[in-house]
Order: sequence, then structure tokens, then C-alpha cells
Amino acid sequence: MISVSSYDIFFKCLKCGTCCRNLHIKMGEWTLGLFLLPDEIELFPEDKIVPMWGIGLKGRSRPRPETIGVFQLDSNRCVHLTKQNLCQIYLKRPVICQAHPLSLTIEQGQVISASVNGSCKGAKHIPSNTKVNLSKYFGYDVVKANAIASGYLEKMFRESNGFIWLWDLGSHKWKRVTEAKYPTDEFRFRSISTTGGP
Ligand code: SF4
Ligand code: SF4
Repeated sequence: MISVSSYDIFFKCLKCGTCCRNLHIKMGEWTLGLFLLPDEIELFPEDKIVPMWGIGLKGRSRPRPETIGVFQLDSNRCVHLTKQNLCQIYLKRPVICQAHPLSLTIEQGQVISASVNGSCKGAKHIPSNTKVNLSKYFGYDVVKANAIASGYLEKMFRESNGFIWLWDLGSHKWKRVTEAKYPTDEFRFRSISTTGGP
């Protein structure tokens, strides 16, 4: 276990709105937006919702996923951010917003590594592989939200038969991603840490 002093971990939202205003992130060849579970898309205007992750395969002339597991918001600034940098739907905001600014790698219920979103001015960095009581610093609900999001992704990967699809907001095309090609946890969990929630 790595011991970390309480000065190394700190979080207090400054209500700067940065995390809700910069939702598009560039990761290698992909541009991705706010991660949304299927039952969260109704919180946003229909014309701003596009798929994010898919599994399965259909269509020979135009190959595409059979099932969409995760959606994304195609808007760099969240439609629910007010001029005062507050969230209009705070109490029912998406799980990824609840997870911010923590980014946890969780496998079989165990936290493998932890970090905070580098663009969040209200949070100090956690060295990766740190084993501390994260609930103490970020709150139980933030840790739980991370577990929900990563558990959902793990289930998708298990059902994926070795490859998944990503909808790239830059090219507006599906891209097929093989297990060998993405840098595993970094890719997976950076992709669920794109957002925030003042
Ligand atoms: S969570 Fe961080 S980035 Fe988001 S509003 Fe609060 S301080 Fe700013
Ligand atoms: S917390 Fe989430 S839903 Fe709320 S304004 Fe920010 S990005 Fe939008």
C-alpha cells in the first residue's frame, strides 16, 4: 500500500464550469463527448444524442454495430450548464457527471488505480495505484458512480467478442477497435472521465 498524505488529495468544486464546457476530448484518432448510459439520453435533446460504443456486427456493405451500449452528447458545452456555472439537472445528472473528477480503474469490484481529471482546478492529483479511502475525500457517491460506469463498460467488453465500435464525433463514422489496439484501461477509463459536475 502506498501511503498518501491528506495534502495530496483534495477536492472542492470551485464552480468554474470547465468540466461542463469542454466535453469533447481528443484521444488519439477519436473525438469523444459526454458518456451517456441508455437510460440517460432522455435528459438531453434528441438531436444532440449520437452513439458512442457499440458491439456486434451487422451489414455487409456498410458494417456497423448490432447493439449500441453507450451514447454520447454531441455538444462541447453541456446544454444544462447555466450562466452561473451550475447544473440545471444536478439531482438527476448522468452517472459520468456524478463520477467526476475521479477516474477509477475497477476490476471485479477492486480499485486498481485512481486519478483525478487534470483539468479540474478543484482537485489535486492522486498518484496512480494509490490505495486510500477515496470515499473520504470525494464522497461515497462519487466512488459509487465510478463503479457503476466501469461495471457497465466491463460488461460490454465481456460481451464484445474481441472488438468494439466507437462513433467518432470528428469524422462522424464508426471505427472498429480491437482489444489489441486500444491501450486497455487508459483508453477505457479516460473515456469515462471526460465530464464533470459542479
Ligand atoms: S468539478 Fe472541477 S472543473 Fe468542474 S466545475 Fe468543479 S472545480 Fe471546475
Ligand atoms: S454536470 Fe453533467 S449534466 Fe450537468 S451541466 Fe455538467 S455536463 Fe451537463
